[in-house]
Amino acid sequence: MSAVLERMDFRAEALRIGGERVRTARSIDVLNPYNGERVGTAPVAGIDDVRRAFDIAHAYVPRLSRYERSAILNLAAVLLRARTEEASDLITAESGLSKKDSLYEIGRVADVLNFGANEALRDDGQVFSCDLTPHGKQRKVITTREPLLGVITAITPFNHPMNQVAHKVVPAVATNNRMVLKPSEKVPLSAYYFADLLYEAGLPPEMLQVVTGDPREIGDELLTNPQVDLITFTGGVSIGKYIASRAGYRRMVLELGGNDPLIVMDDADLDKASDLAVQGSYKNSGQRCTAVKRMLVHEKVAAAFTARVVEKTRAWRHGDPMDRGNDMGTVIDEAAARRCQQVVDEAVAQGARLLAGNRREGALYSPTVLDRVRPEMTVVREETFGPVSPILTFGSIDEAIAISNGTAFGLSSGICTNRMDDATRFAKELKVGTVNLWEVPGYRIELTPFGGIKDSGLGYKEGVQEAIKSFTNGKIFTLPW
Ligand code: NAD
Repeated sequence: MSAVLERMDFRAEALRIGGERVRTARSIDVLNPYNGERVGTAPVAGIDDVRRAFDIAHAYVPRLSRYERSAILNLAAVLLRARTEEASDLITAESGLSKKDSLYEIGRVADVLNFGANEALRDDGQVFSCDLTPHGKQRKVITTREPLLGVITAITPFNHPMNQVAHKVVPAVATNNRMVLKPSEKVPLSAYYFADLLYEAGLPPEMLQVVTGDPREIGDELLTNPQVDLITFTGGVSIGKYIASRAGYRRMVLELGGNDPLIVMDDADLDKASDLAVQGSYKNSGQRCTAVKRMLVHEKVAAAFTARVVEKTRAWRHGDPMDRGNDMGTVIDEAAARRCQQVVDEAVAQGARLLAGNRREGALYSPTVLDRVRPEMTVVREETFGPVSPILTFGSIDEAIAISNGTAFGLSSGICTNRMDDATRFAKELKVGTVNLWEVPGYRIELTPFGGIKDSGLGYKEGVQEAIKSFTNGKIFTLPW
């Protein structure tokens, strides 16, 4: 364990409920996926703990001015940037993500905080005159946005341990809402760290409470407690659909899995395209909803593109996540690494050709390339959440669009072509939330809209600005004027 982590006391963690640190009788050990060392202990909440958090949140009336919300978020960003090493060590220790990945994540979290601080200062109302038609009147309509009447439940996945949490919490703070957060039980410590940073920056603890535990035990209470007005969830499709079935008459924002293609046309600069391919496939150990999960390559350039991807994959250093020389650490646990190996083995048994990787040691899984992949193989039909690059070929743009649209998912996509007519066809015809020309599917900034359709989500967008819209009720005021 690094010296920094030894200084931090994560041995006896507690729930964050109403400004108290609540110790629980039960706890779970958080283990480092690389070496099995205990990183810390997370409390296991019972249903009564969760109910108490909702009662406290519901009874509290946030009264922070826009200036105060902005100041808290900006101060949290300053504190986080100053503690970058410590915070990134924690992410790396509990998730196995490389230091390169966790340092990048801290920068993103700080961006979310700063964007949230700016948005808190923006009055997003509109003014309409009413004398616009023959039957109009001398009146005006003023629109405003108000925090929700009830409490927000936020449930986050493991893959970006702090940034997923930030994308839920920051818009809630910016809009004077109250949130009960349940982070992934696989990476709970980064979430507690982030919450503590906000309390230190001055956030009233009733506005953000954190509970961890067994989702089978507390999940339903988080979804059905009568005080909950909105559920914002990021995670896999099966839990997302379960939440939709339980939520009833509540607003829901569901950001689910992805199966994003990188599409390489025959005119593409293959050096540039293969750079995007490996970065999109292996960054964050391939565990991004928007990782490149399928490489669709025009058959005329497939051999040359594949050779470049194999060469760059072999150069992608993986191993000890704390070693700054490594590009990639582990996946989240050994079971996840086994699943990657299984779907790759299955594809190979069905005729795919393994060109690099598919070696596993505990939770370390080497970056893997396979070609001769067909759309019906599990490795590309389902979401493979790890550093796997399956290469499929196509002969025409029609075929590329059909393969791309032929899965249940619709999150994002990356396109490599310089032909404007092809680029605009992809932009129009791909059934996804985002089309990035000459970028990885995961490209975004933290402020801008982001989210998927079909099984990837209900079509609501996240990103600081859009989350602020979904976390507020519009109110209309009209007056003679
Ligand atoms: P997961 O669905 O297994 O878990 C997500 C969260 O749901 C965790 O906090 C978990 O404890 C909780 N949960 C589990 N059962 C529950 C229940 N019955 N009730 C309430 N909550 C419950 O997902 P994961 O494995 O942590 O994350 C990986 C998945 O997340 C991938 O599919 C990935 O594509 C997706 N993801 C999507 C986006 C996006 O923006 N679309 C972003 C990141 C990750």
